[in-house]
Amino acid sequence: MIVLHAPMAGWAMPLDQVPDPVFAERMMGDGFAIDPLDGVIRAPCDARVIAVAATRHSVTLQLGNGAELLIHVGLETVALAGVGFTAKVADGEQVKLGQPLLEVDLDAVALHAKSMVTPITVMNEGFALRVLDLDRRVAAGQAIAEISIVQSTACFPGVGRDPVAGQPVTAAAPDHLVHHDWVLASVEELSDTAQLTMRVPLANGVHARPAARIVAALKPLASDVTITARGAPANARSIVALLGAGIAHDDEIEIAARGPDARAAVTAVATLIEDGTHEAVHAPVSSPAADRGDGLIQGVRAAPGLAVGAIFQWHPTDVAVPEHGNGEAAEIAALAGARRSLLAAADGHQGAGAEIAGAHNALIDDPELIAAAQRSIAQGKSAAFAWRSAIAGHADAIRATGDALLIERIADLKDIERQVIALLTGTDASLPVPPRGAIVVIDELLPSHFAVLTVAGVGGICTAFGGPTAHAAILAATAGIPMVVAAGPAILDLHDGSRVILDADRATLNPSPDAAALDAAAARQSRNQLRVAAEARSAQDDCLMADGTRIEIFANLASVEEAAYAVTLGTEGCGLLRTEFLFLDRAIAPDEDEQCAVYAAIAAELEGRPLIVRTLDIGGDKPVAYLPFAHEDNPALGARGIRFSLARPDLLAAQFRAILRGVPAAQCRIMLPMVVDAGELATARAILDEARAALGITAPVPLGVMIETPAAAMLAGSLARDADFLSIGSNDLTQYALAADRGNPAVASMVDALHPAVLHLIARAAEGARAHGRWFGVCGGIASDPVAAPILIGLGVTELSATPAAIPALKAAVRRLDMAGCKAIAALALTASTTRDVRALLETE
Ligand code: PEP
Ligand code: MG
Repeated sequence: MIVLHAPMAGWAMPLDQVPDPVFAERMMGDGFAIDPLDGVIRAPCDARVIAVAATRHSVTLQLGNGAELLIHVGLETVALAGVGFTAKVADGEQVKLGQPLLEVDLDAVALHAKSMVTPITVMNEGFALRVLDLDRRVAAGQAIAEISIVQSTACFPGVGRDPVAGQPVTAAAPDHLVHHDWVLASVEELSDTAQLTMRVPLANGVHARPAARIVAALKPLASDVTITARGAPANARSIVALLGAGIAHDDEIEIAARGPDARAAVTAVATLIEDGTHEAVHAPVSSPAADRGDGLIQGVRAAPGLAVGAIFQWHPTDVAVPEHGNGEAAEIAALAGARRSLLAAADGHQGAGAEIAGAHNALIDDPELIAAAQRSIAQGKSAAFAWRSAIAGHADAIRATGDALLIERIADLKDIERQVIALLTGTDASLPVPPRGAIVVIDELLPSHFAVLTVAGVGGICTAFGGPTAHAAILAATAGIPMVVAAGPAILDLHDGSRVILDADRATLNPSPDAAALDAAAARQSRNQLRVAAEARSAQDDCLMADGTRIEIFANLASVEEAAYAVTLGTEGCGLLRTEFLFLDRAIAPDEDEQCAVYAAIAAELEGRPLIVRTLDIGGDKPVAYLPFAHEDNPALGARGIRFSLARPDLLAAQFRAILRGVPAAQCRIMLPMVVDAGELATARAILDEARAALGITAPVPLGVMIETPAAAMLAGSLARDADFLSIGSNDLTQYALAADRGNPAVASMVDALHPAVLHLIARAAEGARAHGRWFGVCGGIASDPVAAPILIGLGVTELSATPAAIPALKAAVRRLDMAGCKAIAALALTASTTRDVRALLETE
């Protein structure tokens, strides 16, 4: 008997729950499935790799007892053509239990896969599989099933006869196959042999699903069947052999059979390959399809979560506008008045809403839009008609660029069209309010729709069109409303009131769930709720490790609204206020008073908790149109962060004064971004001291630096001598240490702060902080990851500043740690050679 260990952490489930009949009906053999929570797929026992799929989404292993095990990561993942998958082993390699086989970028793959549920099945006969405990969360490496031989004549690859009867049986081709005439006509038959040559129309070739169907179709037949591609014959009764043959789209293949029902066998296989496998017969789609054939509607995840509720079709209609105006002067004045009112209304927004309103303001003020509208008005059109046509022209120009991200911005244009026209025509821009808990269905959601949805407390949102980075999607994620976009126009025909499951984590809408699906969704919702509720209950308590060591858990903030939200989630302060939010998406820089008011409001929301305000960090990936930057070929290495501020001491001084005036002394700390040495710190401190003197502030104000450059990490000792605290900006530190642009998707998987080189830099910075008794924190993205906490704490970090939503879970994770363990794992991590090794250490913890 061989024990199988979970190849990754996740939710284990029986095969019956896999939303794919090929697996659920055990055509790929008996087994179980895991909905993965981590992206390293490990060997479940010692084994030999039979084949890694060319598209790296599956691996087949041969175990010591002859059993052949398939690990198929996600469903329909073959269509991703390898994107998001990295093979860690090669065909024929011997692997040890726990050895990584594949690495999967779960976020990237989940966006396009039908599901991430990963079936693990025994594909050959003669083995019994006993699963130990399913329907619960499993850790990677946990024992999960046992495989034993049930008969001595275990089937080996290529021997597919009925193992019980032992004898070939004669049968006709399965009834369910509808044979194409051309297939029947093309089969060459010679006494007991038959053959046919064809091209493979299947978009993804003969991957796991077609292979399983071919093997199933041949079961009642007796002939030996081979499929030959590129000169190599593969046994058509063996899934492993078929997968190993790597038969691709448009390959020319020969199907040959020998036996009493050779013709039927060739016909069955050819018909399946022709169209019987229900596969796509054209190029793989990377954009979502609507109905996937299993009753679920596939979209794209815009905001995570799971909701069960009644459909509410929500279709705000376009207001009719008069074409002809009442004279040029009157219409131009009307348009200007409507635009002014909207600009004024935008001032009331906060947080993500304020940023989006800022972007809208820029559109409302766009000189080209205004000029286009004025040209139409000059030709006698009404202001509303002119505004609508100007927007339509602009949208067409954006569409013509073909740039998907830009195209998503058309929703913003439509939104300002709607709002300006409502004002011009005096029509009510307010919208019907959906019932509480409803799943709102709409063609495309506009940001101005959003306020209604949050107030109504809808359960979820599903749009026919739109994209995941549209502003409405950002608002949904901030509000915690599950949202799926681009689910296709078919959703607009769903009946109002029908009960559906919106699974935004898997980007699907189940329009007619059966009782089992509703039960499974309810179980998942209650598991999530239990976990979140337990974390929320203790979120307001101080964070102490199991051995009593105090670790501060702070929040990264970018608005007054976020500050209030973070306090409800248990933040103990703000470890990074990104002040850029005040400077982006607007026409001129905020003056000292405006800044002061916002900093004061944030400090007030934090109710006395510490507030670390970072000075302006623009440049690089955050350009600001109204502040003149010389053209830079490589802005990430250019005049960004503190370099920009020191080049504009007037702006830095104004910001210092605004902070000093707005934030009470007991809460106030200031932090400088992108520092490389103590010289920059000294210059900035001199400007700060002048600002203090001008305001008559005598008490010192803590001034810290971010460790975001390898230079700063190496010189942390000298920086810590002069700075009051150090905080690791792991996002930039990682990009500069690994020479990997944090915004470039091609190197996205490299940009991992747990790379040992980055950890050595953090350790070096910790030494510097320790040598001068300075407080040492982390405010980059890695601080939000509970998995990384043991290493960071073991290296000497005493403060983690995370995104607000991560705080309750982070506190819960830190409470389970003790310092001796953290130090041990940090020391081990510093001996690792790759990120993978470091992550492996954390998984075995
Ligand atoms: C960082 O670089 O880790 C950081 C916190 O700064 P930002 O992400 O704002 O560049
Ligand atoms: Mg940074």
